[in-house]
Order: sequence, then C-alpha cells, then structure tokens
Amino acid sequence: VQIEIINTGSELMLGRVLNTHQQWLCRQLADLGYTVTRQTAISDEAPQIQNVVREALARADLIVVTGGLGPTSDDRTRELVAELAGAELVCDDEVLRRITEFFTSRKRPMPESTKVQALVPRGAQVLMNAHGTAPGLVMEIPAEKFRPAPTLLVMLPGPPRELRPMFTAQVVPLLQTKLPCESEFVCRTLKTTGLGESRVEEIIAPELKHLTDAGLELGYCARIGEVDVRFVGRGCGAQQNVAEAESIVRRLIGDRVFGVDDEQLETVIVRLLTERKQMLALAESCTGGWIANRITNVPGASAIFWGGAVSYANDAKLKFLGVQEQTLATHGAVSEETAREMAEGARRASGADYAVSVTGIAGPSGGSDGKPVGTVFIGLADGTRSRAYKFLNRYDRETFKYVTSQQALEILRRALVAGTQPALT
Ligand code: ATP
Ligand code: MG
Repeated sequence: VQIEIINTGSELMLGRVLNTHQQWLCRQLADLGYTVTRQTAISDEAPQIQNVVREALARADLIVVTGGLGPTSDDRTRELVAELAGAELVCDDEVLRRITEFFTSRKRPMPESTKVQALVPRGAQVLMNAHGTAPGLVMEIPAEKFRPAPTLLVMLPGPPRELRPMFTAQVVPLLQTKLPCESEFVCRTLKTTGLGESRVEEIIAPELKHLTDAGLELGYCARIGEVDVRFVGRGCGAQQNVAEAESIVRRLIGDRVFGVDDEQLETVIVRLLTERKQMLALAESCTGGWIANRITNVPGASAIFWGGAVSYANDAKLKFLGVQEQTLATHGAVSEETAREMAEGARRASGADYAVSVTGIAGPSGGSDGKPVGTVFIGLADGTRSRAYKFLNRYDRETFKYVTSQQALEILRRALVAGTQPALT
C-alpha cells in the first residue's frame, strides 16, 4: 500500500507551528502495519496544494491531507481538492445542522463564514468532528482518473485535538476495510532506564540474533534518561517472534525494563503505589517540583501522592523538613546525609509510606572539586530506613532536572517492585 501524507499550512513554512501531524500520523499508521512512502508539507497557496495533491494522486493508494478545512480565507483545501477531482461542492444539511448546533449550544453567534464548512464534494463521505466544526472528508477517486488504480483521499482538520480523535475513531476502521494490511504485523516497545543505548545493544543483540536473522526488526531509540527497545515483526509467526524476543530481553535486562509501548515512568509509579495502597511524599531541591509535576500529570495521582516540599534554600530544608543545622554545616546541602534527612523529614511530616528527596548542583556555577556541577544525591526513606544514591548529571539545567527526576522515580520503582537496590553510578 502506497501512502502519502500532505500537511498544508503556511504557518508550517514559517516555522510558527511544528508539524506534529507528520510524526503522529506516521506513528499511528506504522503501529497498524502501514508504512508511509512520502510526506510533503506545503503552504496554503492554491497552485501548491493542487500540484502536490495531483502528483500524489498519480502514485498513492491512500492520501491524507491535513489542514485548511476551516472557515477563514486561507482554508482552501476542500475547494481546491474538489476542483481537482472534478467534484461539485454541495451543502450537507446534517453538517450544517451540527455547525449551527455547535454555536447555539455554546451561546455564541454563528459567523456567516462558518457555513462554508458544510460544503462537501459530491459523493464524499463526511467524518463528523466531535471537537470542532470542520468535518473531515473522504473521497474515493476512481481508477483511470489519475492512475490505473483507485485512490482513497482523506482530508482532516488542522487542529490536533480535532484531527487525532477523528483519525483514530473514523479513518482507522475505514482503512482496515478499504485497504487492509496484507500480512500480520506486530510492534512492541520495551522501555528501559539506567543503561546507555550501546550497553543495551551489547547485552541483548547477540541473544536475539537468531530472530533478527529470521527477519525480526530490532530498533533502539535513545531518549533522555531512557532507551526504548522496539521489535517489529511482519508476516507469518510475527506475534510469536516478538513474544520470544521480549522474553529474552526481560531475562537479560528485565530489572531495567520499566514499561511497555507508551508507558511512562510516572504512570508506572502511580500504578504500583495504587496497587499497594501506599502513599508518596517528596522533598525536592534542585528539581524544583518537577517530580511532583510528573506524578500529578497522571490521572489518579491523588490516591497515592501526599504532597511535597520544594525546599530550595538551606533554611527551607531546616524549616520544612527538619534537616539538622549540624548536617548542613558539616556535609553541605548537596550530600548523602542531607538527602537522607530530607527524605526522612518528608516521611515524618507526611506519614507516607515512601519519601523521595533530591538535592544537587544544577550549574552552571556552584560546583567544586569534590562536588562538581551535576552532582546529585537522591534519598529514599521508607518506614524503616533511609538511603541515598549519588549521580553525576552534566546537562543544561532543564535536562538536568528531567534526568534527575527520572533517576528518582526509577529508584522508587525499583524499591517498589522487588526491594532491589539500584546500582550506584
Ligand atoms: P481551523 O478550523 O482551526 O482553521 P483547519 O482545518 O483550517 O482548522 P488549519 O487552519 O490548517 O486547519 O490549522 C489550524 C491550526 O491547527 C493551526 O494554527 C495549528 O495550530 C494546527 N495545525 C495545523 N497543521 C498542523 C500540523 N501539521 N501540525 C501541528 N499542528 C497543526
Ligand atoms: Mg484554518
């Protein structure tokens, strides 16, 4: 199946908007076993849009055009594509009714220009828009018009919150009936943390050789603070090969695998604590609340998150967390002892089952020979004891905060799953 994506919008050309549709659509299609063969981004100008769509019609089985279905004068995709296909635009009463309803239910006046969105190329299928007024459109371009075979041409609205649900709920089922994948397809990602990309490969690749030789695709994606291991299997036996590869990787580095597919570390933490009916408290210095932010991004966090202190100044560590003045004077704010007392203090104040603390030197200044920029101590206290782990994270400030939050969450995850201790790095 030849698939082409065309993203329209002058804002893309001007660098005002990142073309996230390109990545999102390719990802959705790839996960279903379809490979996109070409992507084009173009401005809103009429000749551009028509030229690009005409060229794609000569090649592709499926074309997805995004953007330009709205009511303003720069939204011309519908009209230009209809003209190219030789289809007359007709008013769709149901769409018009829905647009009118959209405005009346919000008690807003309906601008005359919005009516243009009820125009539909004759014969096109309408994809109702649950989150806006512009419907999506599907045209079946018959064989022999632009090439010997027919083409499915899908037009989707530009705003991501309208395009994404429309694609998932309406385009995917259509695709699976009109252009089904010829063979079995399985894609599985294991998310790991704590090992570098090359180290992961070194450990797992030799053990997977019989599967990769037989056609299993093995890919790595290094992200900040984590490495994804991705398996893609196609054709007969794909499911079985991917399952075998997964069990091999879990046997080799299972303690480093924190999740699968799109799972994030904070989601895993919330799930584990919820299962155990346990609570978490935080004491954050150099991450400035970043860990709390990640935890509270997860729905259901209130069941497991007590709260935390952003204890940045020494005085805050004393007053919020009860860190001893003596400890700060002797060992400094960035030290194993302080990290432990911060965690203990947060646990004492909250009564939570676990408290995690972080203290470190984000830089660019503030480092010393003994404690260079990037030094971080992460403390963990449970009911019985506290420990602290040392890391050296040499990044810009924002990356530093993210990586540190990742390490802190991983320390907690490992304590939760097996009582295993993370290796000191
Ligand atoms: P509207 O009714 O909002 O005008 P539309 O279908 O006409 O919808 P556009 O005008 O092309 O869509 O885009 C609307 C907004 O959607 C853009 O301002 C932009 O924020 C977002 N958008 C459009 N195309 C993309 C893209 N390729 N990637 C990410 N965001 C996009
Ligand atoms: Mg628009």
